[in-house]
Amino acid sequence: MSDSVENVVIVGTGCAGLTAAVYTGRANLSPLVLEGSMPGGQLTTTSEVENFPGFPEGVDGFMLMDNLRKQATKFGTRFRSAVVESVDFTASPRVLRTSDGEIRARAVIIATGASPRLTGVPGEKELYGGKGVTTCATCDGAFYRNMDVAVLGGGDSACEEALFLTRFASKVYLIHRRDTLRASKIMADRATSHPKIQMVWDSVPVAIEGVAQGGVSGIRVRHVKTQAETLIPLKGVFVAIGHQPNTAAFATALRTDENGYFVPETGSQVRTNVPGVFVAGDCADHVYRQAITAAGMGCQAAIETERWLAEHGG
Ligand code: NAP
Repeated sequence: MSDSVENVVIVGTGCAGLTAAVYTGRANLSPLVLEGSMPGGQLTTTSEVENFPGFPEGVDGFMLMDNLRKQATKFGTRFRSAVVESVDFTASPRVLRTSDGEIRARAVIIATGASPRLTGVPGEKELYGGKGVTTCATCDGAFYRNMDVAVLGGGDSACEEALFLTRFASKVYLIHRRDTLRASKIMADRATSHPKIQMVWDSVPVAIEGVAQGGVSGIRVRHVKTQAETLIPLKGVFVAIGHQPNTAAFATALRTDENGYFVPETGSQVRTNVPGVFVAGDCADHVYRQAITAAGMGCQAAIETERWLAEHGG
């Protein structure tokens, strides 16, 4: 372990982590940001972000994150590629055990986000990544030109994925387990009225077919009211059924709820049960989960960190 102690280590490079880096960098704290397996977080897999304030024409998600990274770098942020495997938050300074060795820090901001969930049906795991099952239309949609595909889910993500896929696919089945969408009205209206999108209501996936052929050939769905099973022939399945918070490495040290989300102290969105350790973004927010709310939490965590270090000798 190195003898050096960081002022503040920020774990995660999504909207929350990088906003915290801009603020703590600007406060001269020289933050160290640890970037894991998905630099830039979820926004890098979004094509157009239409609701980030200040961009009336929308903004490309990748570009937004790239700009935020440049802004953080400008204020003295350092980046290191390292995945946190476990922590010792009883130690002072705090210890983070990472894939790149141990790091000690006076204060820590955890902004590890959330990862896409999968359904767990047979065929999904075997055909995931390059064989027809994916969680990112922006990344993989262009491979499905003139083919039939399905999107699973009924939220904003599912609608967004389905609408994006209409640019390439000949037909998009939007398979949802209920008969109304959870998505916002504007997204739901766009999806349900699109001529290339066919709604498959009240249906859950039972299996994804094509394992023997090494590529998706169809999806078997069950109607939840009649129990009837149907096989829909298609080439791609885009899973958009929500997310799971990336909190496992910290779960023994910090309070989490039954779904794994960090639970902040009463009266704060970002303060945890460990002094000097703060959380921000989707890993601690199962309600709003927006880029702008993640950025706002990153800002709060940075200001709290600055105050905490000032009081406790940063
Ligand atoms: P979400 O809102 O949690 O929706 C998940 C969907 O998947 C729900 O419709 C849910 O069904 C379904 N689902 C969950 N588990 C399932 C399972 N095992 N099998 C089948 N279906 C299952 O997640 P999201 O769509 O990823 O959105 C997350 C947040 O990001 C939301 O706050 C959303 O507004 C926001 N977002 C916004 C935009 C935008 O504004 N452009 C774009 C994307 C995301 P039920 O409805 O029955 O629960």
